[in-house]
Amino acid sequence: MTVGFAGEETTAWPRPRLFPRADALARSVETLPGVGPALKKKLERLGLATVGDLLEHRPFRYELPVEELRIAELGGDDEVAIRGEVLSVSKRRRGRLQMLTARVSDGSATISATWFNQPWLERQLLPGTAVRLRGRQGRYGFDVRSFDIGNGQATADYAPVYPAGEELTPKKVRELVAAALPQAVADPLPAWVQEDFPTRTDALWALHRPRSLDDAEAGRRRLAFDELLLLQVGLALQRREREQEVAPALEPPGELVARYCDVLPFELTEHQERAIGDIDADLARTAPMQRLLQGDVGSGKTVVALYALLRAVESGRQGALMAPTETLAEQHFLTLDEPCRQLGVTCALLTGSVKHDVNSDIVVGTHALIQKGVQLPNLAVAVVDEQHRFGVEQRRALTEAGSPHVLHMTATPIPRTLALTLYGNLSVSEIAKPPANRKPIVTAWVTQEKSGEAYARLRKHLDAGRQAYVVCPLIEESETSQARAAEAEAERLRRAELRGYRVGLLHGRLRPADRRELMAQFKAHELDVLVATTVIEVGVDVPNATIMIVQEADRFGLAQLHQLRGRVGRGAEQSYCLLVSRAREDLTETAARRLEALVRTTDGFELAEEDLEIRGGGQLRGTRQSGLTDLKFAQLRKDRPLLERARELADDLVDVEGPLRDAVEHVDLSGG
Ligand code: ADP
Ligand code: MG
Repeated sequence: MTVGFAGEETTAWPRPRLFPRADALARSVETLPGVGPALKKKLERLGLATVGDLLEHRPFRYELPVEELRIAELGGDDEVAIRGEVLSVSKRRRGRLQMLTARVSDGSATISATWFNQPWLERQLLPGTAVRLRGRQGRYGFDVRSFDIGNGQATADYAPVYPAGEELTPKKVRELVAAALPQAVADPLPAWVQEDFPTRTDALWALHRPRSLDDAEAGRRRLAFDELLLLQVGLALQRREREQEVAPALEPPGELVARYCDVLPFELTEHQERAIGDIDADLARTAPMQRLLQGDVGSGKTVVALYALLRAVESGRQGALMAPTETLAEQHFLTLDEPCRQLGVTCALLTGSVKHDVNSDIVVGTHALIQKGVQLPNLAVAVVDEQHRFGVEQRRALTEAGSPHVLHMTATPIPRTLALTLYGNLSVSEIAKPPANRKPIVTAWVTQEKSGEAYARLRKHLDAGRQAYVVCPLIEESETSQARAAEAEAERLRRAELRGYRVGLLHGRLRPADRRELMAQFKAHELDVLVATTVIEVGVDVPNATIMIVQEADRFGLAQLHQLRGRVGRGAEQSYCLLVSRAREDLTETAARRLEALVRTTDGFELAEEDLEIRGGGQLRGTRQSGLTDLKFAQLRKDRPLLERARELADDLVDVEGPLRDAVEHVDLSGG
């Protein structure tokens, strides 16, 4: 016989007796029985500050249903539950194991139940105590996985198991969630939206007290939908606010951009043409452009970005391009300056350390561009590169500077689902195919012992007149230690594998002027090899560089490696990326999967999906670049239909007063 939660057969969701005040969920955990200041602190460290937080604390798994047997019936290998009374308790050691053994009887037979390394339980398991035990027959008797004293919750079928951290037991967390659960919660969805969803209160009960895994999943989906909807309504509000601003509507494309397309040494690809078409349509309106230009590294976004900037210039206004780092700003400046000269357009670099003329037609810079004191009153088009690295605040500051049209560019391909979530307030143009003359980069995964062969291969490229990158191992402590390690590695390489070649070192601690000088040297082929930390991640464009070695590649993230790899393969030559790491059996499973994925494909969108998969569903935690508060319930791959539904509904719900709109006020759209 299987037993429902806490041993009771339940047929309907228990209903709370009182409808609580609206602020009930905002109450501190301290208002729950048994929570004092010390426990409160521990809970806060888990992000559980309020009753509402506890209600939304998601179990990471549920106990599977097991059969409850009489002790005399025990014998199989399956996990089962038994009930009985403690007769006696004893402790002993077996090597490094502390064993606690209780003799337990249910009248049919007696058994020795064992707990490992929990000697303190002795005090709870006094003779005469009624217990329910979940576990299986083991070497030393009944091996206990979880237990309840009397009718507890831990051993029940589908008992939730909560993330608890080091300082709290899952049991304590379970008790507190149980104490919070009788709270009914206001349903943020208007009745006409609810469709097939359970109410929010039912969903929370299903999350914490499921009668089946399907039940738990139905609850999770409803909560995920609320979460996604909240986010989408927030984004819709942002979008609407911006639409009410007035940007200069630009004249149709004129002579300057026509000349620009003429001087380009290549034909625009179909995707570039399409993106330009989207931009032209946006610029003709007085609502500010809010467009995301998405495309893989080297797909030709910068070419499109310059087009947008020139559209501002030919209307007698200014364009600005902003990058997240000085290195990137400098790189962009180097790329834009030459075509600008050819067209008779003035272009200036403006960073924290270089303050040039803000009256140029086009200004390139970092955040400094939008910091107080720098006025760009004539700004009509702003291009924001790598927009996910910009905080919402900075984006807002930019638009406050006078509502320019904004084109966000990202070279980190984001799966469509994620793009919808993160950039729900933007229209999206995608450059999904690189220029045709590009050969896919050949990627190989090489073990440490064979790194000698990798360097031999690299020297072959150098001897053939090509250039190369060597990426240093990632050191996480600080930029200073990273720089120091890179210096040592460059020195070592100059004496060993790269002796006789011209080797430059690029790291984050170089002074901007030195860095600029170094990049110019590499571009001019005065250096053969650039040894670098991850600062070459984006924006560096040297088509003659055809091979890259990444040392200790397993330490890098998938997106980061893909970005790094994009530094080669920018010309017509076949390019190579050699990922060096320890042997496969010495790597974690996820590290191995990352490297395998990179060898398998160069498609950034596919890799982004893979990355999401490897990191697991909605687990955005730890990806600072996500620019989004963690999603607790949504799993972006699986919940894509929910996400799309939420996005469609958001526009209609923006104007509906009620709990949803109130909640939106509290949504943090900027993330960590
Ligand atoms: P992204 O900004 O997406 O990384 P870029 O605009 O910097 O890409 O382009 C990468 C390289 O490809 C540059 O050297 C650029 O000149 C070249 N390129 C861009 N568009 C084309 C095209 N349509 N045909 C050939 N080469 C192109
Ligand atoms: Mg670029």
